[in-house]
Amino acid sequence: MKILANDGISKSGVRALENAGFEVITTRVAQEQLANFINEEKITALLVRSATQVRKELIDSCPSLKLIGRGGVGLDNIDISYAKSKGLKVINTPSASSASVAELVFAHLFGGVRYLHDSNRNMPLSGDSHFKDLKKNYSAGTELRGKTLGIIGLGRIGKEVARLALGVGMKVIASDDHVGELEITLNFYNDQTVTIPIKTEPIADLIKDSDFITIHVPAQAKSILGKKEFEQMKHGVGIINTSRGGLINEEALLEGIENGKVAFAGLDVYDNEPTPAIKILMNEQISLTPHIGAATLEAQDRIGMELAEQIIAILKSEKV
Ligand code: NAD
Repeated sequence: MKILANDGISKSGVRALENAGFEVITTRVAQEQLANFINEEKITALLVRSATQVRKELIDSCPSLKLIGRGGVGLDNIDISYAKSKGLKVINTPSASSASVAELVFAHLFGGVRYLHDSNRNMPLSGDSHFKDLKKNYSAGTELRGKTLGIIGLGRIGKEVARLALGVGMKVIASDDHVGELEITLNFYNDQTVTIPIKTEPIADLIKDSDFITIHVPAQAKSILGKKEFEQMKHGVGIINTSRGGLINEEALLEGIENGKVAFAGLDVYDNEPTPAIKILMNEQISLTPHIGAATLEAQDRIGMELAEQIIAILKSEKV
């Protein structure tokens, strides 16, 4: 059986599939030639990330397809209900990148409390001429240990963030529409584990009690943190969004930075991707990454392996 991994797949994933007897093609076929290619090569499984679109027309014109796999979380680029109604299996790998996103949250947090985002902008410009001034500017950093992290959304990524925060010695408070309480288990390198219970609380309490707030909910109809919420926050709060643009009202965030309420923000996602607002990009108090939360080599490996395991389980057992 042939598998086309049109947006790429990790070497470990390819190996696992080949060892199970599949032929894996990793050529990137242009969207308009995809149907022809799938039909000529009699592809059974099409694997995509976010680039390739798997719409109704493609599904209709490729009768050899039995399975569509999405490496990653969202399935926006796949007509999932239609695919399922035609008997195709649709799989994804929702947990594979959670730990990577959580580490990026901490990259922004650790950087934010020591001004790395600003220092990295200014050291190349005047590190040789104004070293002492810069040293003074960045000498009032703080530690994360002992501070309170508010996690909005205690799902896959929120739990990984909680794990890291507890490991660092932070107090964790969380708010979630569906989760009441749960246990977070910290796994150490020497197989020791520690389990800590977390009870969620109303978002209004979290907003007023947190030193740092990080959001881990899916896209919403309206922002979770807007003007009213910023007004309720502690003075000097740090805000992180690695979830989806729109969850934080960018105008309210800029206003919070301007009036001193917000000490810094770390953003991986933006209202207007891939062309974020210039006033966000140019703001010295914002630590910026271009939507790379899931983009680590380890996550790619886990995505490849998780896809391979699911494909082997489905296609081998069903003998399709
Ligand atoms: P998840 O579904 O596992 O968890 C989301 C949690 O949010 C759930 O527990 C849900 O009950 C809760 N929730 C939903 N609406 C809420 C609300 N209004 N208030 C409070 N809680 C609410 O999702 P996940 O895998 O943890 O992903 C979280 C976010 O991270 C998503 O927006 C996803 O798109 C994003 N993400 C970003 C990257 C990146 O590259 N930056 C990578 C992967 C995922």
